[in-house]
Amino acid sequence: MTPSFYDEGALVAVMTTQPLDRALDYKAPEGGCHLGAFVEVPLGPRKVLGVVWGPGKGDYDYNKIRAVLRVLDAAPMRDEMRAFLEKSAAYTLTPMPAMLRLATRAPGLGDPPSMRKVYRRGLSEPDRMTDARRRVLDFLNEYGDLSFTLKELAELSGVTSSVIKGLVKQGAVAEEDSPRDLPFPPMDPARPGKELTEDQAKAARHIATAVQSGTYGTTLLRGVTGSGKTEVYLEAVAACLSAGRQALVLLPEIALTAEFLKRVEERFGARPAEWHSGATMTERRRIWRMVGQGNAQLVIGARSALFLPYQNLGLIVVDEEHDTSYKQEDGVLYNARDMAVLRASLLGAQVVLASATPSLESWANAESGKYTRLDLEARFGPAVMPTMQTIDMRAEKLPSNRWVSEELKRAVEARLAAGEQAMLFLNRRGYAPITLCRACGHQVGCDQCDARMVEHRFLKRLMCHQCGETKPMPTVCPSCGAEDRMAPVGPGVERLGEEAVELFPEARVAVLSSDMYGSARALKAEIEQIAEGGADVIIGTQLVAKGHNFPNLTLVGVIDSDLGLQGSDLRAAERTFQLMRQVAGRAGRAEKPGTALLQTYQPEHPVIRAILAGDEEGFWRAEAAQREAAGVPPYGRMAGIIFSGPDVAQVFDAANALARNAGALTRVGAQVFGPAPAPIARIRGRHRVRLLVKAGKGVALQGAIAQWIGQLRLKGDLRLAVDIDPQSFY
Ligand code: ADP
Ligand code: ZN
Repeated sequence: MTPSFYDEGALVAVMTTQPLDRALDYKAPEGGCHLGAFVEVPLGPRKVLGVVWGPGKGDYDYNKIRAVLRVLDAAPMRDEMRAFLEKSAAYTLTPMPAMLRLATRAPGLGDPPSMRKVYRRGLSEPDRMTDARRRVLDFLNEYGDLSFTLKELAELSGVTSSVIKGLVKQGAVAEEDSPRDLPFPPMDPARPGKELTEDQAKAARHIATAVQSGTYGTTLLRGVTGSGKTEVYLEAVAACLSAGRQALVLLPEIALTAEFLKRVEERFGARPAEWHSGATMTERRRIWRMVGQGNAQLVIGARSALFLPYQNLGLIVVDEEHDTSYKQEDGVLYNARDMAVLRASLLGAQVVLASATPSLESWANAESGKYTRLDLEARFGPAVMPTMQTIDMRAEKLPSNRWVSEELKRAVEARLAAGEQAMLFLNRRGYAPITLCRACGHQVGCDQCDARMVEHRFLKRLMCHQCGETKPMPTVCPSCGAEDRMAPVGPGVERLGEEAVELFPEARVAVLSSDMYGSARALKAEIEQIAEGGADVIIGTQLVAKGHNFPNLTLVGVIDSDLGLQGSDLRAAERTFQLMRQVAGRAGRAEKPGTALLQTYQPEHPVIRAILAGDEEGFWRAEAAQREAAGVPPYGRMAGIIFSGPDVAQVFDAANALARNAGALTRVGAQVFGPAPAPIARIRGRHRVRLLVKAGKGVALQGAIAQWIGQLRLKGDLRLAVDIDPQSFY
């Protein structure tokens, strides 16, 4: 067994956040140190942050080993957390130091708790009373024991800070030091929630009982938008808090709105800790510390909140569990949903995965009995699902540079005349058109791997993003033989925006695309402003499909429902299905009934039909059967190997060389495809190229990949990243 304390001079292994491939030996400092302690150690000429990971290896001359400089003032990392970081590093093939950085993303961890001045009512009376002084004292008398910062007190009592300083001199106001990192106010789980419907109450009881059991389990909570999933999981949070354990609610960053926080605050009578990318350094440090001390009971956060040092976590809710933003695509490539399940299983905690349109992975896990599935059927209250209809684009005679059909145009005009909002939805940024035959609807696919070919303008060729195959633009349809009917279709949202301006000259048109805003916050602010009536016609990609409420929106026009149906992405049908359902759910969320119009060249396609019929089970069963037959996730395994570097030819060469030496993979029956341009072909001036690995479900893929890439020596500025369970294929 690993000892939990090391006396001075004992050898300890310290994992640092520096890019080294192992923990280093140090001597425990004066006073000793605990297993898991956060420490500062010397590394060459520098002092770096580390965690005591276990006993030292002792494979080095004891006399040359340096001592830990100091133990930081923070609760030691718990065994469970170290196990979690090790397991997630092994799963994602991430070096431990990078994993540890994720878990220590708060500044000033080593600093002693900093203090600030606070002010409260003092014992004396001032020698001379003025109006301003009276206001301050009345205010403090009213609030009894509470203390305030100088700025707060000045603002709240409407005086300048010099008035307060004057009162301090007289002893009428007391000035004290108080730690800056204050505990979060306690949550009150006993406050009554909404009265639940029978359906909701049953689901809530089930999860609450599971939480009370103190064991691991995952529940898939499925229900259409507005069916009360949030109400149900807040009950589970209440049960968890009542049991004295902490709770975490993960949301896609974009859904972490002021509205949502207010709702949680109303439910529990206090504001939860909020962890997101826009949080200030001070806020981050406070949350990190308070979570570790058990002084933050409830955290609402974006995906990285999963790596906070919870003291006693009992429940993790992953809302909108199908959302692709849970997969981090840069830096450490992990899926927060999957890692949440891993963390909970190590902790004996419960996971709730909530969604209107679960991922096929979660659906399959529920089918196989690994997850419990709870369904909320009825939509709560008066809101009704919108009417959904297709527009058969084969019958529309649109010029090739137009994407809004006559029927959709008229529908938008009607909404504009009524003073309501319309949304045109297209899940494509910039230019990435497909090539299809206007006579038969056939789309040009890749001969090698059955993926759709994408037009590249400057190459004047079609390219497969999965295997890198290219070919010239065909002039004759490979399917029906019609001549000169092949055409690129599918504009980006920006081009669609131009068309909307021409079609609706009187309307205010707003284009919402993630790459058009500097930050998630800026985008969120823009969406909120638009939701409040800042635009008449909204053009958007998938991000408008996330959790936002547009009360005045009554029409959603899906420009290209076919996009993704035969894509090079194995999750294309699933995503299309989820997006259509959600986008359709946008329309008429408030009282006004909504309509969704789906433009399609394939109105009889099973996915389109499943959407119209609302037949989710039918869709999932069909999709699951297809993937099982193809041996792809969740019925097979995949990994991406991404090379990046400033020189595109060099990057391709390195990837080719690795692909040719894939013995470690072929031995376990895995296959390698590529190289091809990565989903994001260039980031910050670096070209990215990807190999794709496919294997059977039972294959120990990580081990084989580690061995395979272990032979590689990367030259110069080349870098390599492994993406286990890749999400994006474009
Ligand atoms: P979901 O998370 O499934 O989208 P919500 O929990 O947000 O659904 O519920 C949608 C709306 O209906 C919210 O405004 C919520 O407060 C309300 N609601 C849901 N269930 C109830 C209930 N049992 N009593 C009162 N209001 C409810
Ligand atoms: Zn291909």
